[in-house]
Amino acid sequence: TKKFKIAVIPGDGVGKEVVAEGIKVLDHLAQESNGKFEFEYDHYPWGCEYYLEHGKMISDDGVEKMRDYDAIYFGAVGFPGVPDHVSLWGLRLAICQGLDQWANIRPVEFLPGVPRRITHPDADNLNWILIRENSEGEYSGIGGRNFDGRGEGKEVAVQTSLFTEKGCERIIRFAFETARTRKRKKVTSVTKSNAQQYGMVLWDEVFERVSREYPDVETDQWLVDAMAAQFVMHPEELEVVVASNLFADILSDLGSALSGSLGIASSANLNPEGRTPSMFESVHGSAPDIAGKGIANPIGTIDSASLMLDHLGLEEEAKALHEAIRATTGKGILTRDIGGNYDTEDVTGAIIENLSVVTDKA
Ligand code: NAD
Ligand code: MN
Repeated sequence: TKKFKIAVIPGDGVGKEVVAEGIKVLDHLAQESNGKFEFEYDHYPWGCEYYLEHGKMISDDGVEKMRDYDAIYFGAVGFPGVPDHVSLWGLRLAICQGLDQWANIRPVEFLPGVPRRITHPDADNLNWILIRENSEGEYSGIGGRNFDGRGEGKEVAVQTSLFTEKGCERIIRFAFETARTRKRKKVTSVTKSNAQQYGMVLWDEVFERVSREYPDVETDQWLVDAMAAQFVMHPEELEVVVASNLFADILSDLGSALSGSLGIASSANLNPEGRTPSMFESVHGSAPDIAGKGIANPIGTIDSASLMLDHLGLEEEAKALHEAIRATTGKGILTRDIGGNYDTEDVTGAIIENLSVVTDKA
């Protein structure tokens, strides 16, 4: 029996609810594997409640502890009472940057049965993947406030974007490698290098240099404002989209909304060199407006478990889980955010049921 050690960090709000659902699915898969694999979880209570009690979002040795695991399964952070920059930097970014998970993968997929907000004739067959630079860029954390001698009402704050050649090159190369595994073999790079003439021009130059090593991959370069429109107008032109930390963050919310809801989007924070464990989480946040009601959509988090299975080498199980999710939405078992009337647990139950059908067939 292969044993996988998983660190579970549910976090805040709906994060707790949807991670619990993901664990149910993982447990079911392990049970059905007839001893092929099992999961051993350690739950960590880090998040905003932990912060209010301890004055920090994560224990001092927390990030280091994560190195002992095969993967990290993450919910979401953020809750009223703790400033969002404190909760984000204190936990999610502390882990991503601390473990050098420099590639964030965010597929955009149009699930059957989910009302989409796009009128493309071939919407069922659209799917693209956003590759987000996850270690620097606009989220470098470099900056400052309260510069001396400015006087009341004249405060100046500086927020610096950091672009290194190494950081640009590895994420761009990763995008090209990803494109090679896909049908169309196309990479679209997104910057704002007309306005941001230092870091993003460096990005563009690295993109052009790396692209010459991949003559078999089609390329495209866009400014982010135009790309936002392209997501809506011509999504069929997209396959692998690579962008900086902030731009890909924004575009992934747009992509998930087009395909139905933030609640269905999955993501993986990878250290592609495999030196540190990777972290799997939905794209959405803690959704305080619906937390505690049992109505959150668990699909984003459950589909992230599918990305985790794939990463752990359980490719068949990953595929089966993803197919079970598609079968569930296809049958109209939908939460309220995507036009249904089912609760969180109903959707998980249906996914598990469909999983048995999928695996029995195999
Ligand atoms: P959000 O993603 O939490 O919510 C945006 C909207 O989408 C809300 O209307 C919410 O109800 C809906 N939504 C989100 N997830 C859903 C789900 N699973 N099912 C159904 N509906 C869902 O973004 P926000 O409101 O901007 O932020 C709320 C908090 O989350 C803030 O504290 C923010 O800092 C934090 N946040 C954390 C992460 C993270 O942990 N990775 C990401 C984004 C935001
Ligand atoms: Mn986001």
